[in-house]
Parts: sequence; structure tokens; C-alpha cells
Amino acid sequence: MLDLLSVPPETARLRVAEWLAQRAEPAYRTTQIVPRLWQRPVSTWDQATDLPAELRGALAGAFPLRRLGLSARQRSSDGTEKYLWDLGDGEAIESVLIPEGKRRTLCISSQVGCALGCVFCATGQMGFRRNLTAAEIAAQVREVILLDPLLTPSNVVFMGMGEPLLNWDAVDAALTILNHPEGLGIGARHITVSTVGILPGLARLARRPEQFRLAVSLHAPTPELRHELMPIEKKYRLAEVLAALGQFRRRVTLEYVLIGGKNDALEHADRLAQLARPLGALVNLLPLHPGGAPGLTPSTRVQMVAFERRLKRHGVEAVLRRSRGLDISAACGQLRVELEAGRKVRAEEHARVE
Ligand code: SF4
Repeated sequence: MLDLLSVPPETARLRVAEWLAQRAEPAYRTTQIVPRLWQRPVSTWDQATDLPAELRGALAGAFPLRRLGLSARQRSSDGTEKYLWDLGDGEAIESVLIPEGKRRTLCISSQVGCALGCVFCATGQMGFRRNLTAAEIAAQVREVILLDPLLTPSNVVFMGMGEPLLNWDAVDAALTILNHPEGLGIGARHITVSTVGILPGLARLARRPEQFRLAVSLHAPTPELRHELMPIEKKYRLAEVLAALGQFRRRVTLEYVLIGGKNDALEHADRLAQLARPLGALVNLLPLHPGGAPGLTPSTRVQMVAFERRLKRHGVEAVLRRSRGLDISAACGQLRVELEAGRKVRAEEHARVE
């Protein structure tokens, strides 16, 4: 039994063609079967009603379609949707769909939990559980399409749970499935890999010929402050990360979460501008999601606007993003952390009653 969703679409096509030939089925069936993996996905082969029933049954036996289980779905009043997917082994991951005009951006996870422990991140509090497979990464997009084809994501960002460049082999294969015309067919410029700056992974991503977009989570303009917020600074230093961006022949985005009283002073904006300007980078300013990180508070609106203006005065292109999904747990890892906390509380209450 081969999981066709775990291999590049070209490989899936070859395997299906071989299998059909062995069964003396007509070759044109390949063009009916392969699009059902990613382009016009079906949840079970039984739904591919353009195929004879007997062939559908044989496909189910030879190539079972593995699914992610939907264990929670939250919809915000601003249209943002959050999904918690059950991986079938007791683990769960999250994706967030953010509609904006004609664009629907799906924020996907690359690992269960994360080892890097950034202080402002709910996923970081969870610790690392395991890497996702390529199929599990790409399936987050597939499952949203299966829920409702009208929600088909136009853009994908690797900004959910996990550090994608610490799971390079799976992310590398998932990028192919996301981008390939026989896969999900999402243009490379519509796929963003977001990283804290894992140097070996950056070198590998830079070697891919497609123009995937790169976002670097900076969050601090000095090594000292970065070290306080992001323990990865011990291993891959700010200066080295910024130097590594020279490998990319495309514009880089710097992500900067504004944390009240921590990294949002105008002097921080001045230092950040010194880093961003030589790179010609776009700076994305993100409000800290309230409730995502204990002990930290979002910057005030006034401070965020002043920070953005200061960057612009230095000639840096900066965009202050709106916080999406404020009424749901839309910060990465937050839904799962909350559900687990709820489960723990319920278990403790249960134990007390007993
Ligand atoms: S911000 Fe990203 S790298 Fe940092 S702990 Fe969270 S998931 Fe990991």
C-alpha cells in the first residue's frame, strides 16, 4: 500500500499508471485518478464517481487516502478560521485561514510543538513533540478544500506550529506538492516559509530554484534583546542570520511582533531600520496576540503606529498588520494549548470528584 499523498505528484502519477497497467485498465484512467489527490480532492475514493465502482474499491485497497481528523473549528467575527487537526497518534496541530479580499491565506504547521521556546509563543510553551511528514503538512491545505472548496487557499505561509527549517526534508517535499501543477498548484510567490533563521536550512531553501518567499522572525534588533526573547540567538546569531539572507535573490520580509515595553521603543525602531535598510527588506509589524504569552502585553495602538512611522522615516517599507481572529485562539499553538489546559483541568476536577 502506497500513500500517494506522501510522494511528489509526478511519482504518484507513475505509480498509478503502473498499477493501472498491471490491472489491464485503460491508461486514460490516470488522468481521472491523479487530480483526485490534490487538484479536485476526494475524501474517499468512493467519491470519485466518474470511475467504475469496482475500480474505486480497488483504489481504496491499493492507495488508501489518509486524512487529518478535524477535532475543533473556530470562526472569528472577522472571518478568520482556525482548525485543530487530529493526527491519529494522539497529537494535534493547527492551521489558520485568513481571508483578506480575494486572498485566502492558510497558515500551516510544520511540527507538533516546537523546541525553540520563543517567550511570546504558545507553541514554544508546549515543547517539541515530533516532526510532521510532508503529507501531513500539505494535507492541511487539502483538508480545508475538502471542508469547503470555496475556502481553497490562494496563499500558504509556514507560520503555524513549529520551525519549518528544522524539518527540512518534509518541508522540502511539501513545498513541491504545494507548488507542483499536478499538486495543489499554488504559485511559489504565494508560498512563504517563515523561519527564525536556521542557517543550514536557509542554505537549502536558497538552493531551490522556485521563488518561494522568505520571512525571517526577527522580533528584536539587538543580539541582547533577541537572546532574551528567542533562545535560538545562542546558536544562530542575529548578524549571521542577516548575512545569510544575501543568498536569496528575492526580497525578504522581516517579522517583528510588537511587545509592550519590551521591543517597541522608538530606539528599537531606529536599530531595526539599520538592519532592514541595507537588505531592502519589508518589515511586517505584528501585534502580540493577547493571551498567547503569559506575562507579556501587546503594544498600544499609539506605540505601534509611532513605531511604523519611525521605520518609514528611515526609508524602510513597513506594514502594521491587523491582529486577526482576536475573538478566537488564533495565535500559533494557542488553541491546542487551551484545549490541553481544559482537558487537564477537567481531568483534575474529575479526580477530585472521585
Ligand atoms: S515562534 Fe516559531 S520558532 Fe519560536 S517557539 Fe513559536 S513556533 Fe517555535
